[in-house]
Amino acid sequence: VGLTQNKPLPENVKLNMEKRGVMMISVLNLLRPQYGIVLDAGSSHTNLYIYKWPAEKENDTGVVQQLEECQVKGPGISKYAQKTDEIGSYLAECMEMSIELIPASKQPQTPVYLGATAGMRLLRIESEQTADKVLDAVSRSLKSYPFAFQGAKIITGQEEGAYGWITINYLLGRFIQEQNWLSFISDSQKQETFGALDLGGASTQITFVPLNSTIEDPDNSLQFRLYGEDYTVYTHSFLCYGKDQALWQKLASDIQVSGASILKDPCFNPGYTKTVNVSELYGTPCTKRFKKKLPFDQFQIQGTGDYEQCHQSILKLFNNSQCPYSQCAFNGVFLPPLHGSFGAFSAFYFVMDFFKKISNDSVSSQEKMTEITKNFCSKPWEEVKTSHPTIKEKYLSEYCFSGAYILSLLLQGYNFTGNSWDQIHFMGKIKDSNAGWTLGYMLNLTNMIPAEQPLSPPLPHS
Ligand code: AMP
Repeated sequence: VGLTQNKPLPENVKLNMEKRGVMMISVLNLLRPQYGIVLDAGSSHTNLYIYKWPAEKENDTGVVQQLEECQVKGPGISKYAQKTDEIGSYLAECMEMSIELIPASKQPQTPVYLGATAGMRLLRIESEQTADKVLDAVSRSLKSYPFAFQGAKIITGQEEGAYGWITINYLLGRFIQEQNWLSFISDSQKQETFGALDLGGASTQITFVPLNSTIEDPDNSLQFRLYGEDYTVYTHSFLCYGKDQALWQKLASDIQVSGASILKDPCFNPGYTKTVNVSELYGTPCTKRFKKKLPFDQFQIQGTGDYEQCHQSILKLFNNSQCPYSQCAFNGVFLPPLHGSFGAFSAFYFVMDFFKKISNDSVSSQEKMTEITKNFCSKPWEEVKTSHPTIKEKYLSEYCFSGAYILSLLLQGYNFTGNSWDQIHFMGKIKDSNAGWTLGYMLNLTNMIPAEQPLSPPLPHS
């Protein structure tokens, strides 16, 4: 049963077990499924994922499956900065569900990881002490469960990009060698990997293997050896360019120009109105560059639903004035020529899925997507609300902006074209597992991806 292939358990898992007097894992235990838990503490929400795999096959590719996803009720953990005492009850429901689902005998050896992303990166920019306070409260709560808690940390944008790339390629089976029938005389064929496009609320990541080109900025370069193959991967995470922070940036930029307490906004449906607090607008480090002393505490957004104007105001967020490399995305960030197929997930998927549904499955081309978004933006808000009574109003009211933002980011930000658009595959799940960084993170930290060399960056969890 390949017992010799099993990697040693992480140090504190061992300790945990010894504490309970379990000195040896029986052969039977190894044959039973193993479990792992990862909490994705995003900027707008926290999601808990339970993974399951047969212990004796843990080094094969594609064997780890997502058993359950639990959405923690409430906002992202960064919103608990002033009420850390509430974090315990916030996490309780999903943690209790994990206790129900994972057999009691497996719980002490089930690792639990919490990774926080750009929402917490932003909070840390504002106050490191407050960010630590939140993470401490999260750790205290997670330690109180009968699992092997491995830590709660803010992952870097580079890690977020890298693990998302690992997840989708693991699930798509891209790390398996293609066996050439001529393999006895030639090397077996290395498969092309998929690039990964991840859009969160506060940051967005692009990660892919470029074709024969050098990665001109070492900060964008990752070296992996996975299943005996070397990969040179480009990655970049744009902080403040997730879709919620991009909207804050756009509003701050528009109000800086107009200076008026009524903001006619082409990125919202006609007839839509919303009051915004100036303190909230300037409450994020992402709007700092547009900050202006305003003679009011609140202003009102009034939607005008004009796609073209919306597109133009979004383009102002991408600075293309200087590029110290042969090619850039925006804001002077190096981007090599795009290559191969891409999987686009999280908010890329949520938004495209909405447009796909309202257009009866035809957002195949970039022109079609532009036309559908344009048409949606021009619809009166009352009509939009009546047509989609079950969709959360916050999401629904922002689909015009979100559609226009995704098009701008992909086409003008990342340099996709009408032709290469066909290479983007919008994906929520792959074989019942969510596309996102969590699975790749767990695979790496539990040593489930074999390589002759340890993974360099991303870094360990501690
Ligand atoms: P994060 O919380 O940072 O992982 O970001 C998730 C992003 O996806 C946020 O911008 C959410 O507003 C957005 N989101 C989540 N669910 C939906 C949905 N059903 N429709 C549109 N946007 C969504």
